[in-house]
Amino acid sequence: MTERTFSIIKPDATRRNLTGAVNALIEGAGLRIVGQRRIRLTEDQAKKFYEVHAARPFYNELVSQMIAEPVVVQVLEGDNAVARYREVMGATNPQEAAEGTIRKAFALSIGENSVHGSDSIENAGIEIAQFFTADQIPG
Ligand code: ADP
Ligand code: MG
Repeated sequence: MTERTFSIIKPDATRRNLTGAVNALIEGAGLRIVGQRRIRLTEDQAKKFYEVHAARPFYNELVSQMIAEPVVVQVLEGDNAVARYREVMGATNPQEAAEGTIRKAFALSIGENSVHGSDSIENAGIEIAQFFTADQIPG
């Protein structure tokens, strides 16, 4: 089934000029980048985006990392895009990420792990709507 998911290329990756390298893995996996923008997250946006982790010990560090450099927000489309992108991303902890995944190739640590991807279809819809209007997703 054709789906859409939400992706962020995180500051550790944009800082190291890896946007194109990450996108090559995304496209190589058969996902289409149907919407994309480079932005700087505000502190409020980053806090709200990771609200679900607000009680975790790494929350403040995560928010700081997310606003330190620009990010690239993306809408990805393809068959089972949510699950497919989670596979392409690899495990949260790069030491556990499979060969060929974005995090295995590029992540610096469990915190600075290069990409975000939605974890459910429901959250994909919520996250896309936080950053994109319909006209910003040309397809
Ligand atoms: P994922 O991004 O794989 O969905 P989570 O939703 O569990 O992972 O966590 C969100 C983000 O919080 C991670 O991508 C990572 O940047 C950060 N994070 C998660 N766990 C840790 C941890 N133990 N220490 C530091 N940062 C973490
Ligand atoms: Mg998550």
